[in-house]
Amino acid sequence: MKCKKCSDQAVIHLRAHNIGLCKEHFVEFFEKRVQRAIDKFKMFTREDKVLVAVSSGKDSAAVLYALKRLGYNVEGLFLKMGRHTNAAERVVKQLEESTGVKVNIYDTTKHFGELGTGEIAQIVKRPVCSICGIVRRHWMNRYAVENGFTVLVTGHNMDDEATFLFGNMMNWQTEYMSRQWPVLEKTHEKFVRKAKPLIYVSEKETYAYVFLNNIPFMEQKCPFSKGATSSMYKKYLNLLESEQAGIKHRFLFGYFENFRNVLKQTHDVVLNGCSKCGYPTTEEKCVYCKLEERISEHLTQLSQSK
Ligand SMILES: [Zn+2]
Ligand SMILES: [Zn+2]
Repeated sequence: MKCKKCSDQAVIHLRAHNIGLCKEHFVEFFEKRVQRAIDKFKMFTREDKVLVAVSSGKDSAAVLYALKRLGYNVEGLFLKMGRHTNAAERVVKQLEESTGVKVNIYDTTKHFGELGTGEIAQIVKRPVCSICGIVRRHWMNRYAVENGFTVLVTGHNMDDEATFLFGNMMNWQTEYMSRQWPVLEKTHEKFVRKAKPLIYVSEKETYAYVFLNNIPFMEQKCPFSKGATSSMYKKYLNLLESEQAGIKHRFLFGYFENFRNVLKQTHDVVLNGCSKCGYPTTEEKCVYCKLEERISEHLTQLSQSK
C-alpha cells in the first residue's frame, strides 16, 4: 500500500478513512487531529500553562509529545502512589529524557503515612481502582492549581471516550453522560480546566504515533486493573468497528452533536469548597479528605494498640 500524500510505502492503513500513510505523513495527520480538537473545543491556547497527567502508558506519552511538537507550553505530572508505581516511574524518567518535556513527580503516599493505594484499599475494604481514582483526581487538580497551571490535560483517546459513553448508555447513567465532553470549564476557583486533546484519534493511531516516534512507554496496564468491566464494552465496540469502519467516531460525535445538550440541562451540579481542603465537592467534606482522615485514624489506633 502506498501513502496517499507522497506515494512512498505506507506504514499504516487507516480503515475508518480508507487511506494509507507513510511515517512522516501519519505523524502530520495525527498532530493535525490533535490541533483540530484543541481548536474546535477551545481547549487552550499557546498562552496557557498546560499540565499533562502522565501515567507511563502510551496515551499520556503521545499527548505530551504532540503538545510539545505543536508549540504549547507544557509539563507533565506523574503521581507516585506506592510500590506498584515504581516501574512506571522509571519509564516516566525515560519519557522525560526522550521528549525533553519536564515531568514533575509528586509522591502522594506522604499524605497517608507512607502507605500506597494498594494498602489503603485493603484498610478501607474498597477496590484499588476507586482509591487510585480518588487520590489521582484530587492531586492532579490540586497540583495544577497550586503550581499555576491553567489547564490539566489527560490522554483519553476516542476509543476510551466511546467506551465510556457506551457503558454509561447501557446502564443509563445519565449524570455521567451529561458531564462527558472533551473540555470541562473552570467552574470553581480551585478547579482547573480539563481537556482531552486525543478525542479525534483512535487507540491504534495513538499506539502507532508513540511507536513510530520511539517514545518510551509501558505496555502493561496497572497491575490492579485486570478484568475491568470497561474492557468488555471496549471489546464489543471493537467488534462493531471491524464490521463498520468509523462507527466509533459516529457514535461518539453523534452524541456530542445531537444529544449531550439535552442532557446537560437536566444535570447541573453546584460545587462548593470542601470544609477541610477547600477544593470543590458537592458535599460538605470531599471524598479525598474523608479518605485521608480514615487512614490517619487507622494509623493512630494501630500505634496505640502496640
Ligand atoms: Zn507520505
Ligand atoms: Zn477536601
